[in-house]
Amino acid sequence: MLRSALLTAARSEGIRRTVEANPLTRPVVNRFVAGTAPQAALDVTRELAEQGMSVTLDHLGEDTEDTVQATTTVRAYQQLLAALHRAGLAERAEVSVKLSAIGRLLPSDGDKIALDNARRICESAEAAGTTVTVDMEDHTTTDATLEILADLRADFPRVGAVLQAYLRRTEQDCRDLATKGSRVRLCKGAYSEPASVAFRDKHEVDRSYVRCLKTLMGGEGYPMVASHDPRMVAIASELAARAGRAPGSYEFQMLYGIRPAEQRRLASGGETVRVYVPYGTEWYGYFMRRLAERPANLGFFLRSLLGR
Ligand code: FAD
Repeated sequence: MLRSALLTAARSEGIRRTVEANPLTRPVVNRFVAGTAPQAALDVTRELAEQGMSVTLDHLGEDTEDTVQATTTVRAYQQLLAALHRAGLAERAEVSVKLSAIGRLLPSDGDKIALDNARRICESAEAAGTTVTVDMEDHTTTDATLEILADLRADFPRVGAVLQAYLRRTEQDCRDLATKGSRVRLCKGAYSEPASVAFRDKHEVDRSYVRCLKTLMGGEGYPMVASHDPRMVAIASELAARAGRAPGSYEFQMLYGIRPAEQRRLASGGETVRVYVPYGTEWYGYFMRRLAERPANLGFFLRSLLGR
């Protein structure tokens, strides 16, 4: 119930304005978001790289219905990628892109605009010596996102996909994508989805996650295990060993600010660990999904709103 309410609030303009206007939210938001400026993202990338970790950077924003905003987002990614290259950080950092931030929801030709814009970001990533992962949004976008991904991969084979274990279709998508050269981030899924398309029970989602992991680890692609769940991390390590995969032939991914000690522990044990680092002013939707994932975060947040 609480999770659904928070995920509904994540898409409410009214609540968004109220939350954003309250300066007391900043310290809580800062736990999950690197900062508003690109320099903050670069600083965090350097810090994490010095600790032996890799990064995927997300220029925050989603659900854009404005062409200018979509173009501005593309430019922000291009500038970030050039800055990563200049700073010598591109080897450690890729970018994560939401298609709804770069035009997919525009009233006419949204899919084509998003594909063209994603292509531009992929070209800049390639010029910088790195790559892109296409984030996955709610289930109404899965087919379109996977189609755009297939188009991108024809020219940029390293572009990564994201699959969400809570969707009933995902086991089949894992089978389809567990092919040579393909990079697949497996997460549980962060949106409010109906039972017709998604498992709603936590244990069912976990069981689906494990089945998907088995397919990805046993396949020929590069699995990216995106979870903070200690059981999923342990099972992924076990499945990797069973499939004869050495560290570096798969990676763990976690979100900035969540279980940082575990991120360091895995990295110091020789695993490849990539931290998803969001930055920018459009933090509201991202932040609300993080609250929905963990009631303890909500208590912390409400206390900050009340100034306690
Ligand atoms: P859970 O069962 O939710 O959590 C396990 C444990 O992790 C919790 O007990 C707690 O200790 C810790 N934890 C989890 N979440 C939090 C939190 N918010 N705050 C504090 N502690 C927490 N979802 C999408 O739908 N599309 C995407 O493209 C996408 N990309 C992602 C990229 C990365 C790198 C990661 C790590 C996640 C991504 N997600 C994405 C979010 C994902 O779907 C989950 O919502 C989120 O990771 C929580 O699931 P979990 O696997 O960590 O397990």
